[in-house]
Amino acid sequence: MIIVFKPQATPAEVEDVKRHIVELGYEPRVITGVERTVIGAVGDELSHRSLEILKSMPSVADVLPIQKRYKLATRDYHAADTVVKIGNYAIGGGHFQVIAGPCSIESFDQLRTSVRDLVAAGVRIIRGMAYKPRTSPYDFQGMGDEALDYLVHIKREFGVAVVTEVLGAHHLDKVAAVADMLQIGARNCQNYCLLEVTARVGLPVLLKRGMATSIEEWLSAAEYLIVNGCPNVVLCERGIRTFEKATRNTLDVGAVAVAKAETHLPVVIDPSHAAGVQRLVLPLAKAGIAAGADGVVIEAHPEPVNALSDAAQQLDSKTFGDIMAALRPYVELGGKQL
Ligand code: PEP
Ligand code: MN
Repeated sequence: MIIVFKPQATPAEVEDVKRHIVELGYEPRVITGVERTVIGAVGDELSHRSLEILKSMPSVADVLPIQKRYKLATRDYHAADTVVKIGNYAIGGGHFQVIAGPCSIESFDQLRTSVRDLVAAGVRIIRGMAYKPRTSPYDFQGMGDEALDYLVHIKREFGVAVVTEVLGAHHLDKVAAVADMLQIGARNCQNYCLLEVTARVGLPVLLKRGMATSIEEWLSAAEYLIVNGCPNVVLCERGIRTFEKATRNTLDVGAVAVAKAETHLPVVIDPSHAAGVQRLVLPLAKAGIAAGADGVVIEAHPEPVNALSDAAQQLDSKTFGDIMAALRPYVELGGKQL
């Protein structure tokens, strides 16, 4: 940490701050400039108590961190790409995956038809939600436990891996018994209690970025998972909330590039929730892949017009197949295997 003094700070005040720094477990190195004094406080910022409290001292102008608030997620800590296994399928380190399926599981037939068509198009990891986070309590909330049974069935029949959302700690055991990867949705990205208990399950986690979560907050959420025992985190950029209304959310392609550079974790994009409409899914998916994504998460439904959630953005099977074919050259251009 760097502690910057106000121009009028007296030598006695500098001494006082130095004493506090030592008490907090750091070694102070004073630099006396022409106009201002600064102190470099040497020590591990993660394991020592935060020096931020020095901001409350009248002589201190600012306290600036040097280390990031996340560490285990960074490439400084682990340089090589982490490869995450979702069931039998790898993502990261050159392995690209298309994770696809309906927004909500609505019936056995709907799920099975969807999975049959997606598998025929080359998908090996299915997403499908039994529990849905809905903005309105009057909207379809998911089929719950019954849908988990359907997931068991399609895993057995098609040999796919499944990703499904854990909405709250009380569903965790049931969901974990079925899922190959647990999704923490955008609305729960900073639900730290849920992150902690989910991490302890031992399954990989797909961590969606919250719609108003900065990149630093998103990566700190990933750090919560890692530090609590889940090294297999896949980051998912799904669009953030901005002033723009032409898309449902603004796909932050820059966040993909930053997350790839800063962390060793696989990064995927969800063009469906960013686009909000079918016709924008392909261009947004291409943009995410060009920015370095290791996979895409795409919503598909056998009959989007009858979908009980996110109907406008879900792709029918034919369109999905076309998009899958259109994405292949982009994946290969990025040096990855689909
Ligand atoms: C979803 O994946 O179905 C979903 C609800 O996404 P998000 O949490 O990104 O809104
Ligand atoms: Mn959805």
